[in-house]
Amino acid sequence: MNKQCPACGQRFEPELGFYYGAMFISYIFVGFFSLGLTGLLVFYFNLSIEVTFTILIGILAILFLWNLRFSRSIWIHLLVKYDPQAISKYQARQEKKENAMEESTNQA
Ligand SMILES: [Zn+2]
Repeated sequence: MNKQCPACGQRFEPELGFYYGAMFISYIFVGFFSLGLTGLLVFYFNLSIEVTFTILIGILAILFLWNLRFSRSIWIHLLVKYDPQAISKYQARQEKKENAMEESTNQA
């Protein structure tokens, strides 16, 4: 994962443990997905519980990384407000920084 957005400078981990809450998003998603898939396989396809859980665990293992990133994405979207001027503000800050660097090198 990038440390910050290359376009607007948004830090992707604003504080330590920021993504702790993403665990709950992940839990909700996996919970309902598991209920739905188990119900479908047991009641519609008449598979045994053992086969159903083997399939479920396989699918969840494959989806693990996608689920992790998806949950983090939802979490940061919930907590970081959209700013239409973010890119221009970031560029202005970068220019200020560069100017300050040039001034300090000119003084030396
Ligand atoms: Zn951005």
